[in-house]
Amino acid sequence: MAPVSAGGRRGERVFGVIFALLTCIVLVGGCSRVISGTPSVAGGPATDDVAGLPVDNGPTGPRTGVADADLPVEGTDGGEMDVLARNAVADIQDFWKDEFPESFDGKRFDDVKRLVSYDSTALGGDLCGERTQGLSNAFYCGKENLIAWDRADLLPRLDNSFGPIAVVTVLAHEMGHAVEHRAGTTRENDPTLVLEQQADCFTGAFFRHVAEGDAEHFQVSTGDGLNKVMGVLNYIRDTPGDTDFKGADAHGSAFDRVTAFQYGFSDGPKRCAAMDADDVKQRTTQFQFWKKAQETDLPVDEKNLRAVQDSLQEVFRDTGALPPELVTEPRACDGVRGTAPAAFCPATNTISLSLDDLQKIANPPAKDAPDSGYGDFAAYAQIASRYALSVQQAAGLPLEGANAGLRTACMVGSWSGLLVEDPIGQRNPVGELRMAPGDIDEGVAALLGDDSLIAADVNGDQVPAGFARLDAFRTGFQDGFGPCSTKYGV
Ligand SMILES: [Zn+2]
Repeated sequence: MAPVSAGGRRGERVFGVIFALLTCIVLVGGCSRVISGTPSVAGGPATDDVAGLPVDNGPTGPRTGVADADLPVEGTDGGEMDVLARNAVADIQDFWKDEFPESFDGKRFDDVKRLVSYDSTALGGDLCGERTQGLSNAFYCGKENLIAWDRADLLPRLDNSFGPIAVVTVLAHEMGHAVEHRAGTTRENDPTLVLEQQADCFTGAFFRHVAEGDAEHFQVSTGDGLNKVMGVLNYIRDTPGDTDFKGADAHGSAFDRVTAFQYGFSDGPKRCAAMDADDVKQRTTQFQFWKKAQETDLPVDEKNLRAVQDSLQEVFRDTGALPPELVTEPRACDGVRGTAPAAFCPATNTISLSLDDLQKIANPPAKDAPDSGYGDFAAYAQIASRYALSVQQAAGLPLEGANAGLRTACMVGSWSGLLVEDPIGQRNPVGELRMAPGDIDEGVAALLGDDSLIAADVNGDQVPAGFARLDAFRTGFQDGFGPCSTKYGV
């Protein structure tokens, strides 16, 4: 995140829009009455399902007692990684053989012609015009109709960090490129990001099939299983700002990637095919966000805490809610469990912070230790989440339970969305803070973690499905916080 020099632009028009969106929460009593009872039909009750499937934390990974696939793999050493990859490709192709004609006017899906395993640590040779030595990658090559993977470095690294389902995720993405090629869903001059968004979306469509229990070799739970799968997309994201969106490596930000995945999972391959340059330009953060030069870290200290507090007051001012007091020491609070690094006490309307814990979260993530820290935005978003609870309390909304957690994520998303400034000024910064491209990805990582408050209720409890947490955050980020109380009813 970055502070903005004094006198940062204020958006009259944006505030007008916010005011309209706020009406529900502004009218405290009315708001409670409107949303009490059954949650609204639009969007459905998102708390106990994942795009229509029940939430479960059952097994994720290879099924036991199933014969390995017998697809030919060139260059294989017959080892564990290749068996995993071969089984993954078999399940992914089986899915597309059924799904492809349904989605693309009866066209037939032809298997990828060559599957190639290579060892990036060995001398190797050339594959599709690339030297395999030092190439820690998995890729689809259209002109040679092949999918290749590095069994020596990339696959074991993914397996170690996230488990075997990570290998399936990466290969489903590569097969997504084969699907584009076969279905003709991309155009010649499309930015690389369009191709990548579609491939992530097709990955989501495949994982719905796995989550429904219909894949032969693999299973995935809709709770922590999908959290892992989306974590893989997050892990292999581009460093925002480092990559030109037209560049060959432009996979998009983590937020863009999980969004595409969720669209595919929820709406199927036709939604993916509808992703074109216009859609991607409008929707993705990679297009909308700042350039790298403006990205800085905002260390957790008293001064920056005040800046965050000011921006929250600004965003939620029109709710009429009395701003909570922020204190940087632990305070006992009746009736709720203490949460770290921030706790909201309903009885006193106070947020107590642990600066040490916040600073730990604010550390940038280390490359090979995804849990080392999330980054500054993730730390400040924890505070925003407790602030959102204070606003909810003022509106007479319950602070405990799944809906309270998701409403919180939605409101944090709305605050985040207002800190974004895009090159054509559609959004404007609020107060002195602005978000940089990497910030939103820190938020995604935290939302997928077990220890974040962004989507947690007053006791720190989150719904198990990161899928639902991300949906809620995105709703607020894209649409402001009007929908937060209607979509996530009492
Ligand atoms: Zn790709």
